[in-house]
Amino acid sequence: MKEKRLELLKTLTETPGVSGFEAPIRKVLKDYLSHLATELTADNLGSLVAVKKGADEGVKIMVAAHMDEVGFLVTSITDDGFIKFQPLGGWWEQVLLAQRVEILTGKGRLLGVIGAKSPHILSAEERSKPVKIKTMYIDIGSTSREETEQAGIRQGDPAVPYSAFHLCENGKSIMARALDNRLGCALVVELFEELKDIHHQGTIYGVMTVQEEVGLRGATTSVDVVRPDLAIAVDVSVATDTPGIGADDIASRNYLGKGPVIGFYDASMIPHTPFRDLVAQVAEENKIPFQVDVMAGGGTDAGKIHLFRQGVPSVVIGVPVRYIHDHTGVAHLDDYQNALRLLTALVRAIDSGTLQKLRDSI
Ligand SMILES: [Zn+2]
Repeated sequence: MKEKRLELLKTLTETPGVSGFEAPIRKVLKDYLSHLATELTADNLGSLVAVKKGADEGVKIMVAAHMDEVGFLVTSITDDGFIKFQPLGGWWEQVLLAQRVEILTGKGRLLGVIGAKSPHILSAEERSKPVKIKTMYIDIGSTSREETEQAGIRQGDPAVPYSAFHLCENGKSIMARALDNRLGCALVVELFEELKDIHHQGTIYGVMTVQEEVGLRGATTSVDVVRPDLAIAVDVSVATDTPGIGADDIASRNYLGKGPVIGFYDASMIPHTPFRDLVAQVAEENKIPFQVDVMAGGGTDAGKIHLFRQGVPSVVIGVPVRYIHDHTGVAHLDDYQNALRLLTALVRAIDSGTLQKLRDSI
């Protein structure tokens, strides 16, 4: 079981799929889900919709996880053969320098490193400030524009962080790129595995959305394919158990290993209170540890989904990850396992009676 899960996480985190260029990860997800879903469809922008019919087709539950990741776009090539780029999604300049990236060209994948002026030649004033992204470039080791073009680089090619999956010494933590949000995608795949053999009333729509990192765009369009009664966004949350984070810096503290996170607030949504309370109740009844997340900034796909038509009661279930939007994040397998238990118990707890109760109690 553990080996199979590690293999899934390794595959999903090492497959590229930056916002707007999700084809490689979409193909992998399709392969995993095709034999688990009763139907596999998509919207016109590429979000994937896997359906698992339940006994009561009148209850539609959308479980959404975005498949895209933050990355880069090639904007131009300098006369010396260096590559200028545009970030796709939220990047902080301080985590970029000297990191390896992979550029996905028409000819194949190419390794590069993000460079900037060496500290040895910076003035004291320059050295005291973070380097701006617009002065950075990707270096693929070439010495001229011709060489870079020969290698296959073109304007508009996407690039992603390059970093290998790693199981940490404690056997419980993992280090990987794109944990935001391949962890969520892996949870949807494993949820569908779980549902293969167990009874559930509601029809489950596992939706892997595109372009979340650039403004929840895939969620906006794919929700119309499903027209759900309820929605659960599965995403990562910011783990705040690292040094230097004071009580005043954060609204809630989330730790690795202390359980999945139930979203109570973010900048995109205030969750539907009775539905949110049902999530906590299901966790308590099943003795699943959980943490509460209150995040002043950021948002998830639920931010768009809950505003669809007359509104869709929505909640967020997350897995805490250290260093999201970075080349290497750190997450804990116990949190992942407990998130899967919570998701499975939650979708099983919902039938038309539950749905009516949630609607009546708002
Ligand atoms: Zn995310």
